[in-house]
Amino acid sequence: MNMLTLRDRPKDRDRDRSSEAAVPRFERAIYLDHHATTPVDERVAALVLDAMVNTYGNPASVDHHIGDVAALAVADARRAVAGLVGAEADDVRFTSGSTEAIRVAMAMAKAEVGDRPLRIVVSRAEHKAVIEAAAALERVGAATIRWLGVDGVGDVNLSEVADTLEAGADLLCLMAANNEVGTIYPVEQVARLASSFGAAILVDATQAAGRIDINATGWNLDYLVLSAHKLYGPKGVGALVARDANRISVETLGGHEGTQNVPGAVGMGEACRLRMIERPMDEARITELRDRLQAALLAEVPDIVVNGSIVNRLSNNLHISVLGADNGAVTARLHRTVAISTGAACSSGSEAPSHVLRAMGLADALQHSALRISPGKFTTSDEIDRAAVMIAAAVQQVRAMGGGR
Ligand code: PLP
Repeated sequence: MNMLTLRDRPKDRDRDRSSEAAVPRFERAIYLDHHATTPVDERVAALVLDAMVNTYGNPASVDHHIGDVAALAVADARRAVAGLVGAEADDVRFTSGSTEAIRVAMAMAKAEVGDRPLRIVVSRAEHKAVIEAAAALERVGAATIRWLGVDGVGDVNLSEVADTLEAGADLLCLMAANNEVGTIYPVEQVARLASSFGAAILVDATQAAGRIDINATGWNLDYLVLSAHKLYGPKGVGALVARDANRISVETLGGHEGTQNVPGAVGMGEACRLRMIERPMDEARITELRDRLQAALLAEVPDIVVNGSIVNRLSNNLHISVLGADNGAVTARLHRTVAISTGAACSSGSEAPSHVLRAMGLADALQHSALRISPGKFTTSDEIDRAAVMIAAAVQQVRAMGGGR
């Protein structure tokens, strides 16, 4: 089959757009924003396409073999997702992503407490997908929220977790790793604490799954969420891992599940399977690339601060503040050449400073000059070296223009 490869596709798309808009074609930027999303692995894309074309049955069609084949493909994918996070396949429910999985988890937790409000404890460094889902329940009187503070590197303190739980909680929300500064959280210990106080735990593993160990069954995690597009799979598919997640009750969501996204599930399954096999090698390489970039920037750009923990962070995270250079002005200069970000994808582009950096107590000057740089498994060392030069030049230009805040 003469198919475009994924590597060709962005350039082709750019050429089409450029000819329409009569602007010069530009080379693809060096992509260092893997916290926002990851490029799809071609092996995954090939299976997604095959499933779209060939596995077109409805998995709920029990009357014919074409339905059976689709159901088997979804079941296979479920096993692969479960394998990556140490869960039982029956507990994996496919969703449209982590955001939906979080909402379903909260609806399930709410159903557990009946008519009274769900008492939720939320870490201040959680993703907005968690914070806003909890806030939506609170607004309609279905939940109360208590906040768990974080320290200067975005981490939680176990005795504060215990104190907060002791005051009464039904559900504790703690991410496995942070999407801004990459902090890895002590999920296993916190899950044990939560259970000793009779609270369930919801673990947002969107950034962590496929990068660090997660053991849903071994750690007794009540609700775990992950998303395919953060692990080189397609967008628009994720999973909730929870007991009875596939037997959603009428009280929780009305009972009806809808037609399953078979190609999405197949893609997510393959992405998880590949992560299981390739993670150790990929993560070691990505760590080296991150450290190489960090060293180059520290050497070339004066007044850089590395935010978060430099020991307890995800391999793909480099979060820096370039004092005296407004982060928006720096990314504007790099817009077409190096894809880095001023913060989480949902808040970069808005002027609001990051709630995570604020919770960490970072000074205003550090918040306004913060840059999140995140390599991935397709990043090359040549790209890292070129990116270091371009980022350093952009910072210098912004500083020379007095572009700080
Ligand atoms: N949680 C975290 C930590 C994330 O980084 C993201 C995505 O940016 C989400 C949740 C939302 O995931 P999705 O895009 O699959 O809805």
